[in-house]
Amino acid sequence: IRILAYESSCDETSTSVVKNGREVESLIVATQIKSHQRFGGVVPEVASRHHIEVISQITKEALQKANATWNDIDAIAVTYGPGLVGALLIGVSAAKAASMATGIPLIGVDHIMGHIMAAQLTAEIEYPALALQVSGGHTEIVLLKDPTHFEIVGDTRDDAAGEAYDKIGRVLGVNYPAGKTIDEWAHQGNDTFHFPRAMMEDDDYDFSFSGLKSAFINTCHHADQIHQELNKFDLAASFQAAVVDVLAHKTIRAIKQYQPRTFIMGGGVAANRGLRERMEEEIANLPHNIKPKVILPDLKLCGDNAAMIGAAAYNLYQDHQFADLTLNADPSLELPYADSMLN
Ligand code: ATP
Ligand code: FE
Ligand code: MG
Repeated sequence: IRILAYESSCDETSTSVVKNGREVESLIVATQIKSHQRFGGVVPEVASRHHIEVISQITKEALQKANATWNDIDAIAVTYGPGLVGALLIGVSAAKAASMATGIPLIGVDHIMGHIMAAQLTAEIEYPALALQVSGGHTEIVLLKDPTHFEIVGDTRDDAAGEAYDKIGRVLGVNYPAGKTIDEWAHQGNDTFHFPRAMMEDDDYDFSFSGLKSAFINTCHHADQIHQELNKFDLAASFQAAVVDVLAHKTIRAIKQYQPRTFIMGGGVAANRGLRERMEEEIANLPHNIKPKVILPDLKLCGDNAAMIGAAAYNLYQDHQFADLTLNADPSLELPYADSMLN
């Protein structure tokens, strides 16, 4: 089964051909980061304009690089939410047009299901699995009952982890998106500031990062007022230690409760070296009978890309979950919450 996948939910336009949900035959990622950097974040109108400029060209490129023609494609997959509505609509329209012209079936994919399924491109996931989804707009602990049924067991109450990185990055004068640079700086400093670890000892699986962000910003402003120079490496290390502590602590507790066979990380922040090392170390220390298999996606598959959409779409294909030409963008699409969370 060969799937041509589209991703255009934010500031990356991407196409990919994925075989059997496991093998990336081609992957094109056209990033717009440079166009948004001067604004310090993604400008929706600018994003849509860039998506429409490149999407036809990168459709051809993905097919060419995979040595495929439309005749070799069994399904066309596209991210239909969550994300920026104008950005999503470009991918959805392109996928629908291709499906209508060729008669190839269409599959709509949740962007977050896609991030989580990037792991399937690295190794085989055994179910039930548990995922820590950490990205620019999401920080969630997700239970995967099988390849197509996911439930949120923990969520952020305010900022997402990636968003917090980008916001404190701005205070340090780091270009958007700041996560990668802060991660590098963190490895050159020490946790000397001891920022708060919000909700760490609560017995739910929820997160909060806005207090940490405020504490960080206040520390910087205060130093500024008294003309004191703070070490940026120590600031980065202290921020990252607080984020990683909370994420690791709650995720390990969820692993102990749900006892998944596989643990996965997904999303842009899953590229974080400190977080990857910490999760591997903590899981290695778990008792043998509850130690899950760990799958961390390739660094290049953590950020937005169409290969992860192709991987998730393969599972939906196996489950006969097709879309029709009424498929629309859903900017606030959400995975369901676990039943226990509803009361
Ligand atoms: P979502 O997927 O939630 O809709 P998004 O698509 O904008 O949001 P991604 O593209 O998955 O998010 O991830 C981008 C985020 O990842 C940015 O906030 C960026 O700063 C962060 N990020 C990237 N690399 C790292 C890293 N090494 N450490 C921490 N954060 C990182
Ligand atoms: Fe994303
Ligand atoms: Mg992005």
